[in-house]
Amino acid sequence: MDDATREKVAAAIQTLPSPPALMQRIIKVAREPGVSLRRLGDIVVTEPAFTVELLRLANSPAYSLSQPVRTVQQATVTLGVRAIRNHAVAHVVRVLTAKIDLGAFNTEVFWENSLRRALLAAELARIAGFEDPQEAFTLGLVQDVGYLAMAAVWPDRTEELQAIQMLGAKRRLEREFEVCSTTHTEMFGVLTEHWDLPIDLAEAVGAHHQARPSIQDRRVRRVSLLAGAADLVSDVFHSGGSEESVREARGILAQIPTRSDLTLESLCNATQDKLPEVAKELRIRVGHQPRFEQLISEANRSLIEITHEYEDLTQALQKALEEKAALARMLERANLELQRLAATDELTGMANRRRFLHVTDTIFQDARQSGEPVSLVMFDVDHFKQVNDTYGHGAGDDVLREIARRVAGQLRTGDLVGRVGGEEFALVLPNAAPRDAWAVAQRCRQAIGKDPIKCRDEREIRVTASFGGASLEKGMRDATVDSVMKAADDAMYLSKSSGRNRVSWSKVS
Ligand code: GH3
Ligand code: MG
Ligand code: MG
Repeated sequence: MDDATREKVAAAIQTLPSPPALMQRIIKVAREPGVSLRRLGDIVVTEPAFTVELLRLANSPAYSLSQPVRTVQQATVTLGVRAIRNHAVAHVVRVLTAKIDLGAFNTEVFWENSLRRALLAAELARIAGFEDPQEAFTLGLVQDVGYLAMAAVWPDRTEELQAIQMLGAKRRLEREFEVCSTTHTEMFGVLTEHWDLPIDLAEAVGAHHQARPSIQDRRVRRVSLLAGAADLVSDVFHSGGSEESVREARGILAQIPTRSDLTLESLCNATQDKLPEVAKELRIRVGHQPRFEQLISEANRSLIEITHEYEDLTQALQKALEEKAALARMLERANLELQRLAATDELTGMANRRRFLHVTDTIFQDARQSGEPVSLVMFDVDHFKQVNDTYGHGAGDDVLREIARRVAGQLRTGDLVGRVGGEEFALVLPNAAPRDAWAVAQRCRQAIGKDPIKCRDEREIRVTASFGGASLEKGMRDATVDSVMKAADDAMYLSKSSGRNRVSWSKVS
């Protein structure tokens, strides 16, 4: 605690109520060495509220006595001086904290949890053979009262303090320090001083979060360890049976020397069974107390629910991804089809002008690098207007289709034919010198004109075509696709003008 916090705490603590004089006396007398039970009993009866509580508690399952206790004298004999002192402390703490205005702080939940810790500590004490389970009970009950003091000092932080109590024992102290620059164990020390409570209890509370408390008195050290263990076990309930809390709790139980088989399950259930009755005696309101199995199965169920939700999400995601992939495939197919359509002439199925020029361009680039020749051949159907006029446009289409088929039959792989105009076609022939290309053009010309073309109404039409070619050859640095095409076109017109149905060749200028 830093100085500023210490000052703030000191000022706030001064405003808290003080223990009633009689209770203070009971606690003080019980501390005197060799005090007689009779004397202590005489003082106890003068404080009716405490007497009633003492008798109720002595007869509750917390003690499991074989004979009912009816008088204070019986109670003092049965419980012993130290137990009465401890009860007095617990009584004082509860009476006083009930008088403090804690605003939004939920004291009901706080006392329910404290009572569970108290019962756990007492049960552990019994199992571990500790001489005074009642002391463990008291310590369990008051060990977290520091939170109430904190809520009184920092009324604006009650929500955070409330949340902190739900954390595991280890995380709790760190968070308290972050939020209030002090801890509930330190705060209990401050309260002890203010209320003049027995110092050994303050010492035990102060150390209940330490794995190895540096306390001289063996009895105090043991009870502090038991309180710490009770804290860890009660985390199982705070956390709703979380895996981590169960692991921690089992770990701490394994460290407690016991004479019997101690399981977390039996300890929790024994505690839960007793809790409602003891709560009634102490006038602490408690809710439904789940048994250990119920807690764990609920924890598992929520785990399963989370797993199922996760699986559902994963499946939905998987489905979405599959749909996305299917859409992508559809899109890719559509794009390919679009590309094909954009590159194909609908009537003949051959490359259209755009595609033909694009491919020719690449072939020319390669040829310039390799130095191999490329030839271009253009051809145009002769008097095609007459075909349409005589046989109809449909028959004309059939003729164009058949020409395309016949020409394609004359080409090598790597050659390409394209429809570059209405009844005008072009060939690009890679690695073909003028002589070879001329021969190809001749073969195509013959293929077109040799046999009549049968059109859709079985009529036969005889057509010819005029060809013109030009070549890109090694060393022709300035020749372009355009200039070679222009030369081929010129040659074709030469064929037209010199009688049609022939092949002419032209030099690229
Ligand atoms: P030439 O020998 O001088 O080339 O004479 P031509 O009649 O073939 O030339 P012209 O340019 O006068 O006529 C070409 C005709 O080709 C006119 C046009 O209607 C026709 N044509 C162009 N495209 C198509 C087509 O897709 N289908 C059909 N059936 N006819 C077409
Ligand atoms: Mg604690
Ligand atoms: Mg023509």
